[in-house]
Amino acid sequence: MSERTDIVVVGAGPCGLAVGAAARQGGIRAVLIDRGCITQSLVDYPTYMSFFSTADKLEIGGIPFIVASEKPTRRDALVYYRRVARHFELDVRQYEEVVSLSGREGEFHVRTRTLAGLERDFQGWALVLATGSFHAPNRLDVPGEDLAKVTHYFSDALPYFDQDVLVVGGGNSAVEAALELYRSGARVTMVHFAQDLDRGVKPWILPDIRNRIARGEIRMKWGVRVSEIRADAVVLTREDTGEPEVVHNDWVFAMTGWHADPSLLQSMGVESDPETGVPDYDPATMQTNVPGLFIAGVMAAGNDANKIFIENGREHGGLIIRELSRRRAVTSGA
Ligand code: FAD
Repeated sequence: MSERTDIVVVGAGPCGLAVGAAARQGGIRAVLIDRGCITQSLVDYPTYMSFFSTADKLEIGGIPFIVASEKPTRRDALVYYRRVARHFELDVRQYEEVVSLSGREGEFHVRTRTLAGLERDFQGWALVLATGSFHAPNRLDVPGEDLAKVTHYFSDALPYFDQDVLVVGGGNSAVEAALELYRSGARVTMVHFAQDLDRGVKPWILPDIRNRIARGEIRMKWGVRVSEIRADAVVLTREDTGEPEVVHNDWVFAMTGWHADPSLLQSMGVESDPETGVPDYDPATMQTNVPGLFIAGVMAAGNDANKIFIENGREHGGLIIRELSRRRAVTSGA
């Protein structure tokens, strides 16, 4: 048996919720499906992180997001987005993974599997994919990457007191993880293939990381890549000379970013740029080259998850619903 609705939204992150809120405001029925909980990505972010955006830039559906401090914390945002879901009475199916898509405009089918293994089918005349990018890390592709001591996520530094940790990367995630780990008593080595930190590192944390590196409190290795991860060591290789160095190591944090997983889009025939991974879509409506199939949020950025974030991805919901409302008016002759 298929459950019918107007639009099915895959992903209940901030941008999927923004589609749901806009649909509610536009009188369009929407079912949102997420394999985790509402804003699962934020649940998986570093426990004590603060957003770089001010609260007003993270608002969706016109619901005020008010916090006492200048920048909202992860916890503030988790509470806020749940309030938004309640306010709009969004129909969110949590812990239900979308496993396949089929059909065409007017009759899309969305096959799901719940945590308990139940398979279900949803039917909608339009489909929105808002599956984000946080659960497809950019792998190092080196031997040993699948060892239990290696992670592409950082949540809390306290378990790493008195441990030798390697942080890979030169962006915000790497810098913040390195600083927290250092302050929790870990011995931190950072490696970055470039000769400086990424340009996008938040200006207010730059003096801190630069001072820690200058004083040798965090050991920084520029122009170096990880070439192998062993049970008790890592092999680091210089970019210029190819010279290897074996460093004792207990844990590896590969903070090398994430990218959108294109598999669901590809299964429906959505094309993407082979270089950038950006799907073929119209930025005015967010519709892909497949009629009736839309994308929202960071997945529109392809391989570079830093181009779209909540601040700009939250606008996609309004664009999609405006287009769907226009089509509905045309079909009904209104
Ligand atoms: P996501 O939030 O990733 O949501 C996608 C959802 O889809 C997930 O809940 C996932 O479970 C679900 N999903 C995926 N596949 C399936 C499937 N097959 N079936 C069902 N569900 C599925 N952005 C800002 O604007 N300001 C900031 O200050 C900021 N700070 C950040 C700090 C950190 C540490 C990080 C990592 C990111 C930060 N970002 C910030 C970026 C921002 O969090 C993301 O851009 C945002 O989460 C994207 O929202 P989204 O809805 O597109 O995707």
